[in-house]
Amino acid sequence: MSKLFLRTLRDDPADAEVPSHKLLVRAGYVRRVAPGVYTWLPLGLRVLHAVENVVREEMDRIGAQEISLPALLPREPYEQTNRWHEYGDALFRLKDRKGSDMLLGPTHEELFALLVKGEYSSYKDLPVTLYQIQTKYRDEERPRAGILRGREFIMKDSYSFDLDDAGAKASYSAHREAYQAIFERLAVEYVIVKATSGAMGGSASEEFLAVSEVGEDTYVRSETGYAANVEAVITTAPESRPIEGLPAAVSHITGDTPTIATLVDWANGALDREVTAGDTLKNILVKTRLGDDAEWELLGVGVPGDREVDFKRLEASLEPAEVQLLEDADFAKYPFLVRGYIGPKALQANEVRYLVDPRVVDGTAWITGDDEQGKHVVDLVCGRDFTPDGTIEAAEVRDGDLAPDGTPLVSARGIEIGHIFQLGQKYTDAFEVDVLGENGKPVRLIQGSYGVGVSRLVAVIAEQHHDDKGLRWPKSVSPFDVHLVIANKDQTAIDGAESLAAELDSLGVSVLLDDRKASPGVKFKDAELVGIPTVVVVGRGYADGVVELRDRFAEGATELPVADAAEAIAGIVRD
Ligand code: ATP
Ligand code: MG
Repeated sequence: MSKLFLRTLRDDPADAEVPSHKLLVRAGYVRRVAPGVYTWLPLGLRVLHAVENVVREEMDRIGAQEISLPALLPREPYEQTNRWHEYGDALFRLKDRKGSDMLLGPTHEELFALLVKGEYSSYKDLPVTLYQIQTKYRDEERPRAGILRGREFIMKDSYSFDLDDAGAKASYSAHREAYQAIFERLAVEYVIVKATSGAMGGSASEEFLAVSEVGEDTYVRSETGYAANVEAVITTAPESRPIEGLPAAVSHITGDTPTIATLVDWANGALDREVTAGDTLKNILVKTRLGDDAEWELLGVGVPGDREVDFKRLEASLEPAEVQLLEDADFAKYPFLVRGYIGPKALQANEVRYLVDPRVVDGTAWITGDDEQGKHVVDLVCGRDFTPDGTIEAAEVRDGDLAPDGTPLVSARGIEIGHIFQLGQKYTDAFEVDVLGENGKPVRLIQGSYGVGVSRLVAVIAEQHHDDKGLRWPKSVSPFDVHLVIANKDQTAIDGAESLAAELDSLGVSVLLDDRKASPGVKFKDAELVGIPTVVVVGRGYADGVVELRDRFAEGATELPVADAAEAIAGIVRD
């Protein structure tokens, strides 16, 4: 440590909010260069390499082959899939000296598809899975928490190419298992969530979320182990009810009642029953279009009045169509839309597509807009007075809502650490990636895409494994196996520590030796901050033939006889 390029800091960096960010900076693992752009210092680089190696071993185990693509890429392939435009502001675009457009790769589906097209031509070559552990660039809107969300970051991305669906599924599940093995070895607590409901025929996609309060992804889980992204939650619809015998719908003058709250107030004064927001049907108007050149189309979305529309869920349900809220100008264009009083009647009369929450089943009666200023209708029955064009998952998900297995959901937060995705033929279609099939006819390949946030994982592990004193690395990624602290000024003790370090080294145990001329107190504090799980102290007891063993995960210390300390420590490290 007297030579190590390391300066620990006593104070948290001013720009750090989450613990992993504070500790990785204070303990001298990373240094900021610009927002979302970081330098890896010696300790940090060792952890990063350890994470990379775990990922590499598990990828190799499923037969994936490592290659390395450039980060600096030409525009054309991304133009061909429209991602040059679709990626929006997150794409780093640049020009070379000749004026040609280039980009810094945010992800490499296009390039891998082209590569396979160039090299392979026969079904006999397939299946194949290629991967790289490589630097990616995304101009994130909000780079955050140090290396957790960088603008330059390291990702493992792999891509599988298969001849048929069965093969594609096998590649997908091989990755799923590899990811489970990776995160297990890295001691990350995680859940696997369905990323999208697949309502619009989307292919299978799952995300691996590290459980963390500082995560930006909200998901829901139930005690039975069910977990899903909020976007992917499928509402449990009640049974439809008999319509016969229900009271007729009646229109009422409700006065100035443009909000659910004012409507409920009116109803509780005017009707001789107790009414809550859940008895009202709220109709939200949006516009959608499929593709930049298409016309915007109106869409009405009806949800129980006690729930907000969750725009992300709405977007996910309508994907790949684009969706926007109506603006004043739109309302002006359609006079039949009376803001605050919109009901199913006017929507259906004007052929506006009308989708409702799955809870709005046949036989349910609602208080809702009557399409005139100051008027609402009571007891409007679904299946009798209006017939929606279908259902949509757009209402917010709440704690206590039911999972598909009937258990209550609670919301939690996570950090996305991996994503596995069956792409189908999106990219192989774009580049016509075909090989000659067994019967002599061309076969279009099926692609899968799978990412792991390698640099992000360093922060995630730090986030899940620390205490108020510092980091606490799991053995699989610790920058060194043992932190050996010299806390005795006596030359024989110093020599003893150095020969113990050499002995450990020869046993294949990596050692960080604190040989600095600093007080034991300073050294112990740094050892706690740096977070190597096994700390050995050559201290006062050395004269009596013992060294002290401390475990970063436990209180107190034990003593080891110097004579067989190396063997004993090596045993602990390997355990
Ligand atoms: P996020 O939702 O967190 O922005 P993403 O869905 O855009 O991630 P993918 O395109 O699926 O990310 O990339 C694969 C993996 O790369 C992610 O699961 C994540 O672990 C990691 N990753 C993505 N963006 C970043 C980033 N800005 N910094 C660090 N790691 C990232
Ligand atoms: Mg993702």
